[in-house]
Amino acid sequence: MTTTVAAYAAPSAKAPLERTTIERRTVGEHDVLIDIKFAGICHSDIHQARAGWGEAIFPMVPGHEIAGIVEAVGSAVTKFKVGDRVGVGCMVDSCRVCEPCLNGQEQHCVRGNVQTYNGVGKDGEPTYGGYSQKIVVADAFTVRIPEGLSLDVAAPLLCAGITTYSPLKHWGAGPGKQVAVIGLGGLGHMAVKIAHALGAEVTVLSQSLRKKDDGLKLGADHYYATSDPKTFEELAGSFDVILSTVSAPLNFGAYLSLLKTGGALVNVGAPEEPISLNLFSLLGGAKILAGSMIGGIAETQEMLDFCAEHGLGAEIELIEASQINEAYERVDNSDVRYRFVIDTATI
Ligand code: NAP
Ligand code: ZN
Ligand code: ZN
Repeated sequence: MTTTVAAYAAPSAKAPLERTTIERRTVGEHDVLIDIKFAGICHSDIHQARAGWGEAIFPMVPGHEIAGIVEAVGSAVTKFKVGDRVGVGCMVDSCRVCEPCLNGQEQHCVRGNVQTYNGVGKDGEPTYGGYSQKIVVADAFTVRIPEGLSLDVAAPLLCAGITTYSPLKHWGAGPGKQVAVIGLGGLGHMAVKIAHALGAEVTVLSQSLRKKDDGLKLGADHYYATSDPKTFEELAGSFDVILSTVSAPLNFGAYLSLLKTGGALVNVGAPEEPISLNLFSLLGGAKILAGSMIGGIAETQEMLDFCAEHGLGAEIELIEASQINEAYERVDNSDVRYRFVIDTATI
């Protein structure tokens, strides 16, 4: 039997989100039915709800930072039981047999992973995300939220946490390394916390000094305004790794000049417009420009365990579902400290 649940959806790219109902599929033998408690608002929700990345599926129920409690499990599920605290991130399935899938990189599935929303499930039906009361997800794409993390501050880890943890680990953020984070928003503030916990010396590169006190409290050692041209003179050649979390096009050439020889500028931001880059900015100093997209399921579990061990939850503003559209406006204006999280009981 399918279950009808309340949700918030964008009816079209031009309309605000509004309350609606959706159907959740019957719990299959490998499925978990999750009673969603909290859903984070990622900037990717905003890009997609406005079809900013191109064609999208409407009505759209965004939300890929999901934390809740297991309400039922299928007959073949052994990993979870009713009452467990669980999370779901940006994907709910993949082919499971291609090379990336077998290597724990389901996000890079060659057949394309099944996105939590704005995707099409293996049943051919559109997927709907976390701005809703319940969701049915394959057990293989459900992760455990450790006891040490409360569900509200854990929800954003399912995207903002893994998206920053994965590249910081991959590119060697740790003791003795100079790491810069561009943009102190949802992803950026988790990047600062995680890089600091990994032992790196952390610098925030923000548009202004408005959030400097917060940045230092989150674990940054230094904080600079990129609106000040002197920042680029002073920090030239300083960093081993720079992680860009910016949602808008940036002058990457200027940021590449801040890398040490052989350093890497890793971009996780997903702006709607292309950038242009003078390739000479990569030549001198043999610079690396790289990208990264979320992380695999096993690494997501590793990240949650790491965050629990180090006491790293997100800094959140808990909102009611009726405030979603207002929250979108505030995220657009870089006015978020540092993740909006929806209390799904208010849907
Ligand atoms: P967010 O909370 O809005 O944070 C983005 C931050 O970027 C802002 O707080 C702001 O920081 C800075 N910024 C915004 N506009 C800027 C501009 N015009 N110039 C310079 N800096 C600007 O967004 P988020 O949720 O962290 O997501 C960030 C981006 O990552 C989005 O594009 C999102 O779609 C993408 N994303 C990618 C992945 C992935 O897997 N690769 C996963 C999740 C999200 P300051 O105020 O400090 O300057
Ligand atoms: Zn996201
Ligand atoms: Zn695959």
